[in-house]
Amino acid sequence: GTRFLPLLLLPWLIPVEINRRRSTVDGRFRRYRLVAGGPPSGQLADRYIPPVGHQIQDCRGTGSEQRRSYHSWVKGSINDVLIPIESYHLFDPFGRRIKHETRFDYDRIPAVVELCIQAGVDFPEYPSRRRTSPIRMLGKKVIDRGGYVEEPKPHLSENCRSLLAELDTYGAHFEQPPLSASDTRRLAERTLKAYCSVRRGVRQLMKKYSVKACGYCSEVHVGPWGHNAKLCGAFKHQWRDGKHGWQDAILDEVIPPNYVWHLRDPHGPPLRTALRRYYGKVPAVVEVCVQAGAVIPESYKPMMRLDIIIPDTEEARLVA
Ligand SMILES: [Zn+2]
Ligand SMILES: [Zn+2]
Repeated sequence: GTRFLPLLLLPWLIPVEINRRRSTVDGRFRRYRLVAGGPPSGQLADRYIPPVGHQIQDCRGTGSEQRRSYHSWVKGSINDVLIPIESYHLFDPFGRRIKHETRFDYDRIPAVVELCIQAGVDFPEYPSRRRTSPIRMLGKKVIDRGGYVEEPKPHLSENCRSLLAELDTYGAHFEQPPLSASDTRRLAERTLKAYCSVRRGVRQLMKKYSVKACGYCSEVHVGPWGHNAKLCGAFKHQWRDGKHGWQDAILDEVIPPNYVWHLRDPHGPPLRTALRRYYGKVPAVVEVCVQAGAVIPESYKPMMRLDIIIPDTEEARLVA
């Protein structure tokens, strides 16, 4: 599965909240070990990662009443920075629609990878029907798809584990010697550039290839019609029978920005509830890269609210 290694594999961990986590497809919950507030190990983590999460009391997750809405922080992994979004791989996006009963006949792969495959990238494990004559459509109705062809068996990654789960850095030990400060900065620059370039590319591809997103949950489908697997659990509405509600996807549904608070000084005091209106937010990838030394891209500066002067807590109390 290494060929899907994201361009953005960063050897650092950031604190993230546990309550935002979603179940994966078919309701399998991923398990996380709680870290009792200990600082992340490793030199890089010590250098770049604030030792505690923020203290803004906006947790609405399970048990948050007992915590007075403080978050309960655990060590984050790559999948907390880049939220994994998977979709079914379709040999023929214009072929038969996936039914609930046939859903295991299809691989689940990162939605961005599926989009690239449909747009022409070839992976031997995930073949794609390449047509020589165009599909003829009348409105939304397919007049001529060149017939149905027999679809190849799914590849299914080892042990049926998801590719993204295999790539998760949670609990991984980074044996490599720590990077020098200048190498770290270069890596951060490269990562940020890659992130912006992938978002730009996906945005362009989505103009040509249709991507659907469920209006009730985080399911994404690359293809013209959505699918009929009844796995929508966001709202347990009996009347919908687990059916997804398909709409045209927007970029942030395919690549969730996963906004985090921007820390102007990672070594400064933790962010506080009283000052929250002075803080800015940016995508987690951007924040990690900036903390690792990357230059802040112009387009993210307004979100970081760098022009706002943050008062000290005493002052804020007087104002409030
Ligand atoms: Zn929380
Ligand atoms: Zn859904």
